[in-house]
Amino acid sequence: MKSVRYGMRLAVLFWVLFFGVCMPLRAEEPAGEEASSEESALPVCRVRFSGQGLYVYADPLLSGVPIAVLPDGARVQVTLGPVDTLAGIRVCDTGAEGYVDARYLKRADAIVEDYDIYTYEEMVEDIRQLQARYPELLRVDTAGASADGRDLYVLTMGGKNATQHILVHAGIHAREYTNPLLVMEQLEQCLEYYESGSFHGTNYRDLFSNTAVHIIPMVNPDGIALSQFGESALRSPELVEMVRICYVYDVLAGRTDKPYEVYLTRWKANARGVDLNKNFPFGFGIGTSAVQPSYAGYGGLLPFSEPEAASLGAVTLQYQPTIVISYHSMGEVAYWDTSESRYRELNRGFSSYMLSMVPYRRMGGGGASGSYLDWLYSGETPVRSVTFETGNAACPLPAGQYPRIWLHHGSVLQAAAWYACAGL
Ligand SMILES: [Zn+2]
Repeated sequence: MKSVRYGMRLAVLFWVLFFGVCMPLRAEEPAGEEASSEESALPVCRVRFSGQGLYVYADPLLSGVPIAVLPDGARVQVTLGPVDTLAGIRVCDTGAEGYVDARYLKRADAIVEDYDIYTYEEMVEDIRQLQARYPELLRVDTAGASADGRDLYVLTMGGKNATQHILVHAGIHAREYTNPLLVMEQLEQCLEYYESGSFHGTNYRDLFSNTAVHIIPMVNPDGIALSQFGESALRSPELVEMVRICYVYDVLAGRTDKPYEVYLTRWKANARGVDLNKNFPFGFGIGTSAVQPSYAGYGGLLPFSEPEAASLGAVTLQYQPTIVISYHSMGEVAYWDTSESRYRELNRGFSSYMLSMVPYRRMGGGGASGSYLDWLYSGETPVRSVTFETGNAACPLPAGQYPRIWLHHGSVLQAAAWYACAGL
């Protein structure tokens, strides 16, 4: 992987030099009316997640002595990039110019905000606003509805000339609801920098023109609502009854000793008590820890019996993605293989590449147990895939985990699209 990293640094340097020579930072242009109006049109970003402050460097390789340190909340304009994770900036208050790590910047009027608890309703509203802001770049579809009647969204970015499809999904396990926020932010950042951003030397526009990225941000919205707000979040009385039955079973079977409210926060299944990641056909029924509906570990009566799993399966078959990114929590580890995968060799290079971006520990693969990955790797479409387990605290993850997750995963969509375009 050394050569990939070396190549990346070269690509960054090339782009900075190219822009430096051919397209000087806007702030360096002669101070005329046109230049200043162009400057003021640049969106304002604010610094976040910086801890001790964000260092601003004169050197685009972010080396040497910082020329400024910006606290969280400081306002800047992005005048260049992001080029990989580098941004050229102008500080709003002082006019100082330099380079920073772009991952610490967020647009001041961003749509997807940092929430302690990112809800289905907030996500739906964010999707509406993203579509309004980026009508040419984002397509919004639904692929069915959950058991409790929530729409299952599929968001597609790019793909005007798509030769390849990437599928990203999050929130298949209820209590792992930090990841829907993460993938929504990833999407917004790519849309926001669609015209100015580049990754490994390729413009976002080209990356996402050749590759369509399909995001299912919340596979299991009912379970997530249940984990976030308890049984009152469910609309159907029958499903509330089902959840109560699950509790009785789990208590009697010694599967929980928690009070009901705490038990619900730990929910993984959908609102019918089926673990969606055990509801796929390959290896179905093997390795389940529950024999009837439960907060976790029950695979259902039949493969694809659950509308949420069937929806994820249908979207996968519809687009036949060559790259799939699955988000789970927790442990800061990555799964990439299963013992019966048809695509192990194909996936070695991709998983290594993704793990050079996201410094998670690589895990081995187990036997089939009806998971999405088991099914994916048994299919006819050659596919590369990695499953990230974000966070290093018990689920649901505390909000304080999010900055580190963002810093690790802010470029995952760009990296996956670059890999797809590179034809490796
Ligand atoms: Zn999970």
